[in-house]
Amino acid sequence: MPDGPSKKDIKSLLPAELAADFRKLGLPGYRAGQVFRWLGRGVVSFAEMSDLGKDLRQKLDELYCIPSLRMLRRQVSQADGTEKYLWALPDGESVETVLMRYKHGNSVCISSQVGCRMGCAFCASTIGGKVRDLTASEMLDEVLRTGLTSGAEISNIVLMGIGEPLDNFDNVMRFLALVNDPDGANIGMRHISLSTCGLVEAIDKLAGLHLQLTLSVSLHAPDDETRSRLMPVNAAYGVDELYAACERYFRVTGRRISFEYALVRGVNDTPWHAKLLAKRLRGTGSHVNLIRLNHVPERGLEPSDEETVRTFAEALSAGGVTVTVRRRMGSDIDAACGQLRRGRMRET
Ligand code: SAH
Repeated sequence: MPDGPSKKDIKSLLPAELAADFRKLGLPGYRAGQVFRWLGRGVVSFAEMSDLGKDLRQKLDELYCIPSLRMLRRQVSQADGTEKYLWALPDGESVETVLMRYKHGNSVCISSQVGCRMGCAFCASTIGGKVRDLTASEMLDEVLRTGLTSGAEISNIVLMGIGEPLDNFDNVMRFLALVNDPDGANIGMRHISLSTCGLVEAIDKLAGLHLQLTLSVSLHAPDDETRSRLMPVNAAYGVDELYAACERYFRVTGRRISFEYALVRGVNDTPWHAKLLAKRLRGTGSHVNLIRLNHVPERGLEPSDEETVRTFAEALSAGGVTVTVRRRMGSDIDAACGQLRRGRMRET
């Protein structure tokens, strides 16, 4: 039956909230734990909760809904086993999730919003703007459904899909608490990375929570002029202000920041940019993740060539900054940056 808007989303509730709800309903304490564990296993209906009596299942079904994602498309890369999912949300919107298989474990890259309002010049996710935030249960279901459909055990999560996670702060924090819970998916904070375009106030707020996750900052340029060309957010928080927030974050949490840098031909990939970046980051212990721009047809920006990427990486290294060049996963299935949802939008 359809889940009416009057029903409460039970899957976004933290264990203590569920317990409080159940107490009000006059249910014994252990019931909340039972239901929470079922939800963490990805059940889509109360009928599946086989250790609950029929009356209780019916009562819960009247009060609550279990928002679940429905698979619209699954693509598996022939090159490296990367899997890309397009999901329908309960209201008909869609988001994508990517599963990456590495030697050290399987990682899911999840979306945090439907679309994005940050407007980065190279990104496919932002083309239609932001439609809405994802709820905590929808983000949780990206992880659960991906695990169940692929059969892969999920050990790592990266918040690097569609959307700006710090622009959906409360739901993302709730999602982190849910996915981290030992009775839920039980994924350790040290196995979770969150990527932001650099919302300074939210970075400070996050620091105050002292989570042990890895914060990635999408820098993409070491100077205001170049960065503003690529990222409108730079008009609100310039490079200096962003670096200062990153320093505060490190001081408060003890966790080093990793910087994302997509190389765009002729825009941010010159020796001058490499030298300035190295000068700014040397001695801070931060790490730079270089990636060749993924070409997005609508954007009119081109990836730097391999030789330029190598030269840029060497210049950073020589300048005393640790750097990795990110391997492109699933390039044969468009597994990059909002391209699948974008493809569907073009079709419909
Ligand atoms: N909004 C967050 C997280 C989502 S984007 C953020 O900005 O970090 C995830 C990463 O992919 C970011 O580093 C983003 O800048 C990068 N990205 C987006 N489009 C890209 C493209 N076409 N090529 C390479 N990287 C891209």
